[in-house]
Amino acid sequence: MSSNNVEINKPHAVCVPYPAQGHINPMLKLAKILHHKGFHITFVNTEFIHRRLLKSRGPHSLECLSSFRFETIPDGLPTCDADATQDIPSVCKSTTETCLAPFRDLLAKLNGTSNTSNVPPVTCIVSDGIMSFTLAAAQELAVPEVQLWTTSACGFLGYMHYTTLIEKGYIPLKDVSYLTDGYLETTLDCIPGMKDVRLRDLPTFLRTTNSDDFMFKFVLQETVRARNASAIIMNTFETLESEVLESLRTLLPPVYPIGPLHLLVKHVDDENLKGLGSSLWKEESECIQWLDTKEPNSVVYVNYGTTTVMTPDQLIEFAWGLANSQQEFLWIIRPDIVSGSILPPEFVEETKNKGMLASWCSQKEVLNHPAIGGFLTHSGWNSTLESITSGVPMLCWPFFAEQQTNCWYSETKWSIGMEIDNNVKRDEVESLVRELMVGEKGKKMKKKAMEWKKLAEISAQKPTGSSYMNIEKVVNDVLLSRG
Ligand code: UDP
Repeated sequence: MSSNNVEINKPHAVCVPYPAQGHINPMLKLAKILHHKGFHITFVNTEFIHRRLLKSRGPHSLECLSSFRFETIPDGLPTCDADATQDIPSVCKSTTETCLAPFRDLLAKLNGTSNTSNVPPVTCIVSDGIMSFTLAAAQELAVPEVQLWTTSACGFLGYMHYTTLIEKGYIPLKDVSYLTDGYLETTLDCIPGMKDVRLRDLPTFLRTTNSDDFMFKFVLQETVRARNASAIIMNTFETLESEVLESLRTLLPPVYPIGPLHLLVKHVDDENLKGLGSSLWKEESECIQWLDTKEPNSVVYVNYGTTTVMTPDQLIEFAWGLANSQQEFLWIIRPDIVSGSILPPEFVEETKNKGMLASWCSQKEVLNHPAIGGFLTHSGWNSTLESITSGVPMLCWPFFAEQQTNCWYSETKWSIGMEIDNNVKRDEVESLVRELMVGEKGKKMKKKAMEWKKLAEISAQKPTGSSYMNIEKVVNDVLLSRG
């Protein structure tokens, strides 16, 4: 058989990530794994993200293989060339309302040219859970659609139960005083698999008095639609979230936890795909060189991810808390994390021998560096998983969405995190950073984090591990079956 025939007979997965860093990263890893398992891949970015990737990774960075191709669709928003994070509600609204038509056209193009080019007909869609417009297209083509939910399973379970909380009258909030009068501390007993969770630990879009609030309605829409997928893939592993996964399985199509994806992808040894990355910002390699000069477990790594924004006052409280803790730190400050403020010059002067400041790093590499002893994080799911697989304990300052739930699980269920109050104060930062780096609690959390690291490795890297076997199952039972 000629190589053309081989390609044209392959199963063809069209992968559609939500256009944000924390979603593209796991989707690209999943796509690489599917490619390794023999799929032809079309990876669909929004035009905005495509431009960003070319800018940060180089003009030819997305041309790797004829069996792994990139396509784009517009996100429906005005063209923007900034390196900043797009506004999340605007993107959710726009993709929901405008992306189905260009996506249909793309699928028609892929199928229409399959006779003349080396592209096999589309056989399945792998879509981010919050790009659910793709379900209609999959149905029209009669192909299976698997949704990748890039949240933690606990966060996803929280979203799935918004309907329960509405039925029970907990949400939407009766008035804005409920946000501050202690109401969010209410303990709930109506979410199976989440004993003792409080309203404030659940994903934050429920903190509204308005049932017409866009993100509130969006959560309801996407969780209802998830029930129509052929299967759900999650970037987590059984041992970490077994109770929650069990509960999710009563609500959804088959759920396959295949995480941590950054470990599972390690056995993909295709040279052509190795260099294919998804970082939207340019990495500063000086961070690693600086860490190389430090003692093991001596540096606290500070990074609030790609979507967090804070006030100038919050930034200053973190700065002096870090300085006063007397610990060495690597602090990544995205240029758009605070509008209109910079760090006080006295802080920069005082910490010049203790700290390194940068605007973007290769986080997995940093977390795996022996010098890192703790992570001050916004508790994004990718960051939490990357910390777990590096055996690094955390201080958690959740910003929004299910980060709140990840923080609660990190602290109370996994014993690898301590929460910093939302109204951050330098004294609390100082004492928690010290506790994390040199205190007794920090030591206990480190030990626990090392235990979770081992379990993550067993799940994703041993042929008998649950994630390792689940990817095999979802490929054979769902992605290779006709819809
Ligand atoms: N990241 C990175 N370098 C940075 C900041 C973030 O590589 O300086 C990566 C990080 O490793 C993670 C992703 O960006 O994979 C952030 O995802 P997460 O879910 O933690 O948070 P989000 O940014 O979506 O809030």
